[in-house]
Amino acid sequence: MISFKNVYKRYPDGFEALKNVAFTIDAGELVYLTGHSGAGKSTLLKLIAAIERPTSGHITVSEQNVNALKKSTIPFLRRSLGIIFQDQKILYDRSVFANVMLPLQIRGFEKKISAARVRAALDKVGLLAKETANPITLSGGEKQRLCIARAVVHRPSILIADEPTANLDVDYAQSIMEVFRSFQQVGVTVLIATHDVTLLNDTRYRTLTLNQGKLIS
Ligand code: ADP
Ligand code: ADP
Repeated sequence: MISFKNVYKRYPDGFEALKNVAFTIDAGELVYLTGHSGAGKSTLLKLIAAIERPTSGHITVSEQNVNALKKSTIPFLRRSLGIIFQDQKILYDRSVFANVMLPLQIRGFEKKISAARVRAALDKVGLLAKETANPITLSGGEKQRLCIARAVVHRPSILIADEPTANLDVDYAQSIMEVFRSFQQVGVTVLIATHDVTLLNDTRYRTLTLNQGKLIS
């Protein structure tokens, strides 16, 4: 589902954030990506979403050759992706429901279908009871659930998340992981960047480890 071959990423300032990275993630797998701060985790996720482009090497995501993607075809790649990044802003001038509706509105979905999908997404993350609430009233864990609902509302086949349990205490972190597992169980491929050791101690899942831009395990 996701494959990297000999991938290098050098930023314009010359810093080499990824060096000769190679791995494969199969459809339906849940994989953790770990490593020290600055190891290159976010860079790797950004390459998957074509937010950053590789300097050299080959990246395949959902059978699409990400290297060869023209700018105009990036939206097609993003259609198969659900992205949960920390800099994604929640809009506080509208309800939880309207926040999750937004990605579908942008994509031009019909209102009736959208509403059903939004409720399905909110239900999956356990936030349906809060659909009319303003997101300002949500707890940290609930806000993270909102971000997950927004990322899955268009039913992506791949979910990538950057430190989704940062700033959450252990119980909340575990329940957020339950949400990711529930998506994996219905066939979604999930890649989670984290240095949360309580998650990494869960030996059911494979862990990719980056060290100074190199994949060491
Ligand atoms: P992590 O997510 O593991 O903390 P990042 O992928 O964010 O690591 O960063 C890896 C390295 O690349 C860091 O040293 C960071 O400073 C550098 N880096 C990230 N983005 C840029 C950028 N846009 N320009 C230059 N250097 C960057
Ligand atoms: P489409 O063009 O198919 O509508 P989008 O551009 O909306 O796809 O991207 C899909 C997902 O990726 C959305 O959840 C969006 O928030 C997220 N996304 C897009 N660009 C970025 C970015 N630069 N940083 C973080 N997330 C992004």
